[in-house]
Amino acid sequence: MMHPHLTAKKLMSSAPIFTPPFMDAAPRGLCTDCGISRTSEPKRCGQACQFIAPDYDALEMKVHGRVRDENKTDELHFGPHLRMARAALTHPLEGAQWTGITTRIAERLLETGAVDAVLTMAPDPVDKWKPKPVLITRAADMAACRGMRMGYAPLLALLEPARELGYKRIAVIGIPCQVYALRALEESLGFERVYVIGTPCSDNTTTAHFHEFLSLISVEPETITYLEFRADYHVEIRYTDGRVKAIPFLMLPLSKLPSDFFPLTCRTCVDYTNVLADITVGYMGGEGQQWLIVRNTRGEELLNLLGDEITLHTPGSRGNRMGPVKGFMKNVERAAGGLPLRAMPNWLRPVVGWLMPKVGPRGLEFARARVEMKAIESVLHLRREEPAKIKHMIPKHVWKLVEVYGLKPNDEAHESPNAGSNRDPREDA
Ligand SMILES: Cc1cc2nc3c(=O)[nH]c(=O)nc-3n(C[C@H](O)[C@H](O)[C@H](O)COP(=O)(O)OP(=O)(O)OC[C@H]3O[C@@H](n4cnc5c(N)ncnc54)[C@H](O)[C@@H]3O)c2cc1C
Ligand code: SF4
Ligand code: SF4
Repeated sequence: MMHPHLTAKKLMSSAPIFTPPFMDAAPRGLCTDCGISRTSEPKRCGQACQFIAPDYDALEMKVHGRVRDENKTDELHFGPHLRMARAALTHPLEGAQWTGITTRIAERLLETGAVDAVLTMAPDPVDKWKPKPVLITRAADMAACRGMRMGYAPLLALLEPARELGYKRIAVIGIPCQVYALRALEESLGFERVYVIGTPCSDNTTTAHFHEFLSLISVEPETITYLEFRADYHVEIRYTDGRVKAIPFLMLPLSKLPSDFFPLTCRTCVDYTNVLADITVGYMGGEGQQWLIVRNTRGEELLNLLGDEITLHTPGSRGNRMGPVKGFMKNVERAAGGLPLRAMPNWLRPVVGWLMPKVGPRGLEFARARVEMKAIESVLHLRREEPAKIKHMIPKHVWKLVEVYGLKPNDEAHESPNAGSNRDPREDA
């Protein structure tokens, strides 16, 4: 049978926004369908997957020339970086999730001819919340990709078509589980240059589940055009008629969601801040603005493309994360597989919801708190649901993050990581 992407050249001839037909995904255990199982060599998942036997030290070394320096402020939490900034585009792009820094960097790469194509996600034409992988070759077409979709789609299945089309220099915009697989295989892909613009990612779920969530927070879910979990402990929702609503996290109807609402992949992935990107564009440490983590000289090059289109400030940091993180951990333990917020009585939620933005950790301290919460979740959920995976999936720097909360590898249960050589051979098949 002809490989579906062999038709790429023919299909691409008149289409600057392009998605070839993909092969079916090979069935896997923990998997967010990053696209590798749909390529001509699906067995590479064994080497590429964040959920099998990640080796962050080796890839940090390859990508950044060094591993994270755990003695340097914030590298334990956010991974290797040269600098961080609070940032905003001077003229925010309409339809962007924040001000559109991600989109603008990709546009500049195409405008300046630094890359031949950008691999990213557009909204699916039938369901605007569903991500659809696309190859973009004209800067003007990046506008169609602005904003966030909930769910995952096989971004890396575009790598083979891109190579087949003769593209030598590409940029990839991806979430951490996609970027891990990309970096693990990068050397074998045959591109001259690969720029990686990463976004942080947490609490993702399938697009179908996300629709359930929308219908719990609105009687007209189809009128919701935008949703974001802000760093001030509110979810911002925008509607087609221009209304904007901010709901405190604690008032969200999370207890009404099924216990499998967040897949185990997204409750246990260990790279919140996309440590293998050249530049990470998020918001957690931005106190209402965007938050940039420039990780290497290529990341600097990407930021420089924006010139004076962007304003940069030193990130702030306030509050103390210990109390909220400990409280979160108790809730995860109590919820025994359900959702963490169930334990709080209903009468208390509006009060705490009002109080949190005022007294809770802010700026970089908020980002550290979220990274630690995610690390705790990963350990506790894997212990409960896939204990045999802990040894392979939890790297030593994550154990270090959770140590202060009393979580340590249980040697009797063989939880200690043995980085580098901890491939699980069962997953190679
Ligand atoms: C599921 C998800 C969860 C996130 N969680 C956090 C978080 O907890 N903390 C944080 O700081 N940031 C998080 N982000 C990133 C944040 O929402 C913004 O995307 C980011 O700050 C960039 O803003 P922007 O205005 O520069 O993006 P824009 O210029 O609007 O560009 C957004 C880019 O993201 C791509 N994209 C959209 N949806 C997806 C998707 N589902 N998968 C892959 N790529 C996609 C688009 O194709 C586009 O290229 C998350 C992103 C996603 C997709
Ligand atoms: S590398 Fe992992 S996430 Fe990607 S397709 Fe393979 S099993 Fe799924
Ligand atoms: S939460 Fe983690 S596993 Fe889930 S989509 Fe985001 S990066 Fe991938």
